[in-house]
Amino acid sequence: MKKAEKKITKRDIVTGVFLALYAAAVLVGGVFLIPKGGLGVLALFGIMILGLILLVTWHSISYSYICRGCRNQFKINFYKDLFSPQTKSTKYLKCPKCGERTWAKEVARN
Ligand SMILES: [Zn+2]
Repeated sequence: MKKAEKKITKRDIVTGVFLALYAAAVLVGGVFLIPKGGLGVLALFGIMILGLILLVTWHSISYSYICRGCRNQFKINFYKDLFSPQTKSTKYLKCPKCGERTWAKEVARN
């Protein structure tokens, strides 16, 4: 018997690689930029913000959500992706079809 709960998809791998690169960029940036003082710290902060924006943008275009109430599948925008409470595989969202707030299941978009 296979565990079919959540298969690792190509998207999950891309997410992992992106997160690793982001962590590396922040780390390496920190080593080189922090000793430069105020402006260096500011630049590092910029890298962190930029990475976060890229990640959330990519995430919001790569995944959609299924309402627990009516099974409707819907997309969310950047802000909802960033600010809605979430678990590993669900997100607390208002369904655009039935208007109910549920822990919608995250699914990879095709
Ligand atoms: Zn719904």
